[in-house]
Amino acid sequence: MRQPLVAGNWKMNGSREGIFELLKGIREGVKDLAGVDIAVCPPYIYIPEVQGQLHGSPVSWGGQDLSLQQQGAYTGEVSGSMLLDFGCKYVIVGHSERRSYHAESDQQVAEKYQSALDVGLVPILCIGETLEQREQNATEDVVARQLDTVIARCGIAALKNGVIAYEPVWAIGTGKTATPEQAQQVHGFIRGMIAQHDSAVAEKIQILYGGSMKPSNAAELISKPDIDGGLIGGAALKAADFLDICKAASFQA
Ligand code: PEP
Repeated sequence: MRQPLVAGNWKMNGSREGIFELLKGIREGVKDLAGVDIAVCPPYIYIPEVQGQLHGSPVSWGGQDLSLQQQGAYTGEVSGSMLLDFGCKYVIVGHSERRSYHAESDQQVAEKYQSALDVGLVPILCIGETLEQREQNATEDVVARQLDTVIARCGIAALKNGVIAYEPVWAIGTGKTATPEQAQQVHGFIRGMIAQHDSAVAEKIQILYGGSMKPSNAAELISKPDIDGGLIGGAALKAADFLDICKAASFQA
């Protein structure tokens, strides 16, 4: 049985004061929860604050991205080992906003996946199709290409220590959610693809859904057999909403 993971991607949101309140709410609320892994991914600058407040709680934290480089003259970049220095467990790689606004290629995302593993972080690999690609019936081709690039670069065993987030781009921040059936169909496809290489890895890996997941739709999505939690954007910015999603996931465990 896979334990679900609910991870909040705060993106470039929040303030020092706001984050203090958000973390206070999360810390209080998770006391009653069991059977679910929980994480938050704040902007880099707030990670030390998050570490200070979540240290000793069951909630983990992570970065939203990491540099392709280990160290050196790369202005503005943050390496995986720096994230590790501040207690990060996870790092998101290949979020669609990185792929589109920063032109990250499948190959670069695969390199980042490997860099994360190399330093002992758990990469959360985001894959998913645009609306145009879905309308062209290319969803499976797109997610297969994105995933295959990682498997080719890092090997199938590298998925043992990672997490996948299926995030249809058309559902991110739009309020449009994939139906549980649409999401399950793609999650099943992804797990099947991995099983063709290694059935044990396929059975173990957490595949999260991301794209306007909220308290009102989380339970139904997570009840699907291949949906093992969520990567949450907007709804991760309110403690009550985030905790309700965590609760919905914990009931499935
Ligand atoms: C995301 O950006 O990973 C995401 C899922 O955002 P939202 O929940 O706001 O759609």
